[in-house]
Amino acid sequence: MNIGILGLGLIGGSLGLDLRSQGHHVIGVSRRESTCQRAIALGCVDTASVDMTLLKATEVVFICTPLALIIPTFEELITHLPSTTVVTDVGSVKAPIVEALSPIWENFIGGHPMAGTTENGIEAAMRNLFFQKPYVLTPLATTPLEAITVVEKIVQQLGATLYYCSPQEHDSAVSSISHLPVMVSASLIAACLSENPNTLQLAQKLASSGFRDTSRVGGGNPELGVMMARYNRSCLLRSLLQYRHNLDEFINLIDLEDWATLEEKLQLNQQVRPKFID
Ligand code: NAP
Repeated sequence: MNIGILGLGLIGGSLGLDLRSQGHHVIGVSRRESTCQRAIALGCVDTASVDMTLLKATEVVFICTPLALIIPTFEELITHLPSTTVVTDVGSVKAPIVEALSPIWENFIGGHPMAGTTENGIEAAMRNLFFQKPYVLTPLATTPLEAITVVEKIVQQLGATLYYCSPQEHDSAVSSISHLPVMVSASLIAACLSENPNTLQLAQKLASSGFRDTSRVGGGNPELGVMMARYNRSCLLRSLLQYRHNLDEFINLIDLEDWATLEEKLQLNQQVRPKFID
C-alpha cells in the first residue's frame, strides 16, 4: 500500500519505520528539507519531500505534525488528494480536530497512538514504538466503514491494541491519565526547585528511580504540554480541580495526623493501580 506521512518527527518517523518493515511504500512530507533527507537515511520513508503534492498518489495519509498544525496542514493537503484517500491523524486531542476535519473530508478518521518518549524530532524515531500500546480510533456514525477498516488493518500491523470511542470520551479519558499527569509531574519538579539552595543541591544528588518515574512526563517536550492544555482545556481544568481536591484531602489527613484514613486511601490506590497499567 502507498502510505503518506505528513510531519516527520518522533511519531511520524516511528510509524514510517514500522510501516516499511511491513512492506508498505512510505512517502514522507515534512517542513524542512534536512528532515526529509534524514528520514530517508534513517529508513523511516522510501521517499520524502517538502512538497505536499508528493502525497497525491497515496491511499492513506497519517498527519503527524504538532497538534496546532494538524488542521491547517490538512486543509492544504486535501487540495492535492483524490476524495478516495483515507486521512487520519495522530493528535493527542481529538474533539476539536474531528469536529473541524470530518465535515470537510468524508474519508477522515481521528486516531491517537498512546505511545511516546520524552524526545522529539526525526532523530527520536524508533522501531516498535506502538507495539502492544493502545491505539485509539474515534470514528463518527458518518465515517465510511471502508475508511475505518483500512486504518484498523494498518494499526493492527503495528502490533498496537485498538480501542474505539467518541472524540469527547477520548479527550476526557486522556485528560485523567495523560494530560493531568504531565501537569502534576511538572508541578512536582517546580515544587522541588522551590527548596532552599542547600536542600535542592542534596535532593538533586539523592534523586533516584522514584523521582525518575514521577518526573518523566513533566520534564518532557514543553510544546506538547502546552498543546494538551490549549486543545483539551475544559477536560484538563476539570481533572486539575479534582486533583487539587484529592491533594487537599491528603494535606488535611496529614495535618490531622489521621494515619488510619491515610492508610485506607493509600491501600485503595495500591489495589486499583494495576487496573490502569496492567
Ligand atoms: P515531533 O517529534 O516534534 O514531530 C513533528 C514533526 O512535524 C517535526 O519533526 C517537524 O519536522 C514536522 N513539522 C512541523 N511543522 C510542519 C509542517 N508545517 N508541515 C509538515 N511537517 C511539519 O512531534 P511528535 O512527538 O512526533 O508529535 C506529533 C504529533 O503526534 C502531535 O500531534 C502529537 O499530539 C501526537 N502525539 C505525540 C505523542 C508523543 O508522546 N510525542 C504521542 C502520541 C501522539 P521538521 O523537522 O520538518 O520541521
